[in-house]
Amino acid sequence: MQTIDKFNFAGKKAFVRVDFNVPLDENLQITDDNRIRAALPTLKKILADGGSVIIASHMGRPKKNPDMKYSLNAILAHVSDLLGVDVKFAPDCAKAADQAAALKPGEALLLENLRFYEEEEGKPRGEFATDDEKAAAKKVTKENQKKFTETLASYADCYVNDAFGTAHRAHASTALIAKYFDVDNKMFGYLMEKEVIAVQKIMTDTARPFTAIMGGSKVSSKIDIIENLLTKVDNLIIAGGMTYTFTKALGGKIGISICEDDKLELALELLEKAKANNVKIVLAVDAKIADSFSNDAKTAFVPVGEIPDGWEGLDIGPKTEKIFGDVIKASKTILWNGPTGVFEFDNFTHGSRSVGEAIVEATKNGAFSLVGGGDSVACVNKFGIADQVSYVSTGGGALLEAIEGRVLPGIEAIRGF
Ligand code: AMP
Repeated sequence: MQTIDKFNFAGKKAFVRVDFNVPLDENLQITDDNRIRAALPTLKKILADGGSVIIASHMGRPKKNPDMKYSLNAILAHVSDLLGVDVKFAPDCAKAADQAAALKPGEALLLENLRFYEEEEGKPRGEFATDDEKAAAKKVTKENQKKFTETLASYADCYVNDAFGTAHRAHASTALIAKYFDVDNKMFGYLMEKEVIAVQKIMTDTARPFTAIMGGSKVSSKIDIIENLLTKVDNLIIAGGMTYTFTKALGGKIGISICEDDKLELALELLEKAKANNVKIVLAVDAKIADSFSNDAKTAFVPVGEIPDGWEGLDIGPKTEKIFGDVIKASKTILWNGPTGVFEFDNFTHGSRSVGEAIVEATKNGAFSLVGGGDSVACVNKFGIADQVSYVSTGGGALLEAIEGRVLPGIEAIRGF
């Protein structure tokens, strides 16, 4: 497999798919440029080699072409500043052949939002009166998608995918384009490479014991992940709102805690499956409860299955913190997805913080720790410990699909699996 480090871009034009889907305020000012910064090592390497780059990204969910509130023109000046070159702009990503051809070594061209074209995602836009009409429109879009992909591919000599955030999508620029380049001329960018290696350390090259901490609100949104993890981990810590579905299924009293009554059977099945697979499930034993869903609620600590009527569990208690912490600190591989409580309220962050701190300690002692998927990333940022874990994933949905055990089209298109 080709790698960006080995590849010499001198005199080559590289089509680089990045994820510049950054948040903008009402004045179209960038409010968080982390995604742009994350792609800089890849872009800078290509330019430093004497190559030129065609930078391609989506932004938001445009409904038409063009949809100017999603124009990448808004980020052009900042990309130029960060990259240290005067980046040119192609106002139509599908009509940029001349601008791409004119690029000289060391120059960069930013394409307009790929998703202005429905061909990027391959899904027809609009309302359809019948299923037949929809199927016919889909066929046309798919045919057009081929042409669109060929056009994008024609701009460059090589293809670099550095957009892990969209790696779970089989879109024109994230996966389909790769087949227009031979194996020596397509590769992951540095960011994507780090993400792929991190997932590999969790899913295949795993040092043991391997502990996953699954938090968040609902079992239903994490079933596929939990089922797949039950074939991989040694310990599965169940935390967050999910706790109460398990507690109720086991006969505990949970007051008005968040609970999915239609998932009680499933919770018991997951516990059985864990037993059959020799996986230790670690459940909370105590909870920090509140008399209302608010930061200022009255609070108390009680055993997790003895929550009084009218009260709800909004975080784990101190005994649970100790149990979770001991398991985490004895682990060599750690995956954290989802907070242990309603960490958005300062009075219910303690459990999530204690999990974060245990992960930091384990990491200092040589464990590999991966934090990913939405709110646990917000947690490590809030607690200021993002740089003390091994890796914080940038790809929410993509990471979750990877740990569900699915093949990600953006990875497969380059690596072959
Ligand atoms: P998820 O997106 O599924 O990872 O869920 C994250 C959300 O779960 C956060 O917004 C937390 O506030 C919420 N959460 C965690 N624990 C609880 C709980 N005990 N009760 C209600 N919500 C919770």
